[in-house]
Order: sequence, then C-alpha cells, then structure tokens
Amino acid sequence: MSITQDTKCVQAGYTPANGEPRQIPIIQSTTFKYATSEDMGKLFDLEASGYFYTRLQNPTNDMVAAKICALEGGSAAMLTSSGQAANFFALFNLCSAGDHIVCSSSIYGGTFNLISVTMARMGIETTFISPDCTLEELNAAFRPNTKCVFGETIANPALTVLDIELFAKAAHGHGVPLIVDNTFATPVNCKPGLWGADIVTHSTTKYMDGHGAAVGGAIVDMGKFDWMAHADRFPGLTTPDESYHGIVYAEKFGLGGAFITKCTAQLMRDFGSIQSPQNAFILNLGLESLHVRMPRHCENGYAVAKFLSTHPKIEKVSYPSLEGDKYYELAKKYMPNGTCGVVSFEVRGGRQAAERFMKALKLAAIETHVADARTCCLCPAASTHRQMTDEQLLKAGIPSGMVRLSCGLESSSDLIADLENALEAV
Ligand SMILES: *Cc1c(COP(=O)(O)O)cnc(C)c1O
Repeated sequence: MSITQDTKCVQAGYTPANGEPRQIPIIQSTTFKYATSEDMGKLFDLEASGYFYTRLQNPTNDMVAAKICALEGGSAAMLTSSGQAANFFALFNLCSAGDHIVCSSSIYGGTFNLISVTMARMGIETTFISPDCTLEELNAAFRPNTKCVFGETIANPALTVLDIELFAKAAHGHGVPLIVDNTFATPVNCKPGLWGADIVTHSTTKYMDGHGAAVGGAIVDMGKFDWMAHADRFPGLTTPDESYHGIVYAEKFGLGGAFITKCTAQLMRDFGSIQSPQNAFILNLGLESLHVRMPRHCENGYAVAKFLSTHPKIEKVSYPSLEGDKYYELAKKYMPNGTCGVVSFEVRGGRQAAERFMKALKLAAIETHVADARTCCLCPAASTHRQMTDEQLLKAGIPSGMVRLSCGLESSSDLIADLENALEAV
C-alpha cells in the first residue's frame, strides 16, 4: 500500500507489535546485552545488524530516522546530533584530504564556515558557485578530484532556490552525487530525491522539531548513486575498509545501504555525534504534525510577505512564493504547495531603523533561530554579521537594514498587526 506524506509524518518508522507501546519508546541505554561474545562479534564485523553502543546507533534514533527516510523517499537514513554534524558527515563520508567540493555560494553561514574554514584545514578544497549560474559555469567548476556537489533547497538566510535538476545534471555528468540540505523546505514541500539529489540532509532543529526544543540533524541516502560505476573516485566505498576486516561497503550493502552504513560504522564510531534518544523522541513529536504545521507556516509567510511588499517603509522583500520574487518560477516548479515561513526584508533607513523596528515588535521575538512555532526575527547586521562594516555587508548581499523574520503558527492577522505597529516606530 502506498501511503501519503501526511500519514507517513504520523506513523512511518515504527509499527508496534501486539502489546507494545503505541508511542515510540525512548531507549535510554548506552549499551545492549548479549548472551555470547560471538553474538556481539558479529555486530562488530558488520555481519549482523543490531545495537551494542549508543555512540554509534540507538533504536529510538533509528525509528525516527526511518520516518524521515520514508518522508524523503530514501533507502537508508541516520540521525546526527545537529544539522552541522549531518552536513559534515555527508561531505566527509565522500571526501578526504586532497579532494574537492563544488558548492552553491548561497548556503547557511554555519555550513559555509564548516566547508570554507574547517574542512579546508582538513585539506578539502571547495569552489563556491552562484546558485544562479548556467550549466556551463557549473561544469567549469569541476576538477578531476571533485567528489560531490552541495546546495540548499531554499538557502538560509538568502532564500534563494536551488535549481536541483540543473545541479544534479552537472553532478551526474561528472560522476559525483548531489547533496541537498532540505531543512527549510522539509519533505512536506519538496523531495529533492525526485529531482535528482542523491543525499538529502536536514537540520531537524528547524521545522522538523518545529518547537525550538531539540537540536538535531539527519542524513538520508536515496540509494540511487552507483558507487561501483565510479569506483576510482570513491575508494572509501569501493575498496576494503581495514578497520572492518576488509569489508567493501558498496559490495556488501549495495546501492541502498553503502553510504549510511559507512557513515555510521566509521564517522559515528570515530566522531560520536549521535543524537540523544531523548531528543529523537522530541523530534518525532514534531514530525507527527509537520504536514499540518508547514502549510500554516507558508500561509503566514505569504501573508506577511504580501503585506510588507506594499509598505512604504520597506525597501525590498524576499520570499520565493511571492509573485515577482526572483526565485518565484523555481519555487513554483520545486515547491508548488509553498516554500517556508521565513521572509527576509529590508527596512528603509539601515541598521538603526531595523533595530528600532525590531525593538517595537511585541509578538516576534529577537532570537538566533528560525522555523519555530513562535515567530522570531533577527537583524544579521546587528547580530550574526555584527563585525562587518556596512560596505562589507553589502558585498555579502546583506543590506544593513535587512531583517529575517521566521513566521510561526500564530494568526497572520496578529503578526501583520504587530509588524504594522512596529513599522510606525521607525
Ligand atoms: C540551522 C541550519 C543548519 C545547521 O543546523 P544545526 O542544527 O543548527 O546544527 C544547517 N543547514 C541549514 C539550512 C540550517 O538552517
């Protein structure tokens, strides 16, 4: 039986047997008991699947990962301690020192730092390319040592929309997978795998949890990328892993399982960025209503964007679902039912005007967060990008009066009244 996204949000990932708990159990245990050392040895050899230590895997996490896997239409998935850990693992599972990444320049600041500073220190180089580039420009960014392409469905905070089909075409033309961070769209609004993405990542901290309660991340493999067809490029997947008695992941676990098994067996084992089962339980509560919440976030985002777009004190509004937005056509193609609840706009009068406006808001709280049930906002020039001069900010595409507003689940009329009132203070 093929079930809808809505029903998957509620029920996928866990089906209790007779007499078992209806809600997913929190397996709050670091370790698991075995009758014999041979039994446990099989787990260490990856000969049998099972649990032995929560630094690598935990049953609660796997139930929630299975739900996210079903929502994205993937073959295997895992949870991580944060979205940062998810993106790092997804990239580092493919790249080693001396390798190269092609990456959209319009991505989350934390991911940009991870790739451009920390991964560069590990000897992994990256070419950043505008998401608005042509196929020719994109093709020109590849090198013989390129191992993957990375982008965000809807970029945080720029709200650019990735042309997933175009980026997948270029990646596959060069024999490498496309990794898409689908945090802002969520699988309710977009399934990047349907458009050619091979690996999908999430900061589950955002809409998936949706209540500002638990930091977390997820990685989903679509199970479509043929590692063996590009064996020379991905030795980590196609040659023996001496730390597991010479297992070849792509042979033993096939298209559907190789990527996530390697990521769990090597990276989770060595880095231990596991999500706590308690957080996975909270995340699952969020997922149960994701399909009900996302349309409301989008409805509020649209109403607020529409209101701001005609306000005389607003210079510019970015919202991909708003008619006339630079990314409207791409948004319509990839996210016909809506994009997200985040709207960015520029208050006339720069940094001071934006700060005065935000101080006057009563419902929207000033926070370093997005995608929460409660509306929140941030002025990058006055917070995350505070060290930069107005000139540097402009170069980075962040006008000093820019505000990023994440519309929550309140009534849109209340949100608009709050904005209207605060704009009077400017
Ligand atoms: C927040 C965010 C991240 C990082 O996630 P954390 O859970 O904060 O580590 C990665 N990508 C996107 C698009 C994000 O919005």
